[in-house]
Amino acid sequence: MTLIGPENPDQARLLRLLRDDGPRSRVELADALGLNRTRFIAEVDRLTAQGLVETAGPAASRGGRRSSLLRIAGQVRFGAVTVRAGQLDVALTDGELAVLSRLGEPVDVRSGPEAVVGRAVDLLGKLRAEAGLSRLTGVGVALPGPVAVREGAPLPAPALPGWHHFPVRDAIAAELGCPVQVDNDANVMALGELHAGTGRAFDDFLYVKLGSAIGCGLVLGGTLYRGATSGAGDIAHLRLTDDGPLCDCGNSGCVEAYCGDGALTREALAAAHGGRSTALADRLAEAGTLTAADVARAAAAGDPAAQTLVRDGARRLGQVLVGLVSFFNPAIVIIGGAAPGIGPVLLAEIRGVVYRRSTPLATGSMPIVLSDLDDRAALVGAARLISDQVFAAR
Ligand SMILES: [Zn+2]
Repeated sequence: MTLIGPENPDQARLLRLLRDDGPRSRVELADALGLNRTRFIAEVDRLTAQGLVETAGPAASRGGRRSSLLRIAGQVRFGAVTVRAGQLDVALTDGELAVLSRLGEPVDVRSGPEAVVGRAVDLLGKLRAEAGLSRLTGVGVALPGPVAVREGAPLPAPALPGWHHFPVRDAIAAELGCPVQVDNDANVMALGELHAGTGRAFDDFLYVKLGSAIGCGLVLGGTLYRGATSGAGDIAHLRLTDDGPLCDCGNSGCVEAYCGDGALTREALAAAHGGRSTALADRLAEAGTLTAADVARAAAAGDPAAQTLVRDGARRLGQVLVGLVSFFNPAIVIIGGAAPGIGPVLLAEIRGVVYRRSTPLATGSMPIVLSDLDDRAALVGAARLISDQVFAAR
């Protein structure tokens, strides 16, 4: 595998500036990097020769010499892979991490890592061929459970049965012949927020990922914080009560057992069977089962029982957040991954608990908002994950 990338910290900073801010004039870039003209030209020449940057036309004149715009080269293309419990998505992005094309299909993670990773490679290969590319610059992967980032493999998790220690990173790198980086989806979505979402305006924030698997990504000082063993933010199996509902992990009373999609559908079935919600009972009779999306739709349509279920889960999550914001003091909390339509009811309850029970020092001006990136957070974040590695000085 031919590795391309910056040769020194100045080249790395230049690439990241162009990735994050888009095309900029040579004069501005030299100023931003604090490099003299000769040195700047030399660094740009090296990056141009590697096919990493290119001229993008003349910049607006600032008087005196005209400067030309520089941008990440058109041949820089990142692949993104996101695996969820029932869905596989892949995308191709440009060097500024805008999604150019994407493909997705239902997938059962219980069919094992070989099958799912094989499909991801096939779909990426298809996008690569459609774009007429001989290789990808790198691929980022988001998995729905904790990941040993240095090993590029999942840790044991109920959401990924049979995936423990499977070399996801190395398997994809071997097939596609490019660098690959793997992380858990909450971290990856936090990176997506940092790059293209509300998080762009903040250096310190919490990204809370809801859905079938719950997680939290921590951005500290503008970078993702993973902790000593990549376990930071793994809040799914914090125990809220000693006698709570049974969790997939084998314990009881975990955050996920109260607030995950599994909990929502379990309670929704009970409400439908117990005659507490005609909307949910009708949906159950029609579809034979209930999903988190069904509860979200019923709640958005004003069904009181569905709204109560959403509020119960949100209240538990709010209690967890009270501790997290007091300890971490983020500038903002961004919540994503919830079923579409569930947001307003969820957010109102979480805000109520957090603002009522936190100290003013922690929450004085701290907004709690829903992510506006939808599932793009994970795709952009996966591209950001690998671009951080490719655009790091060797
Ligand atoms: Zn658990």
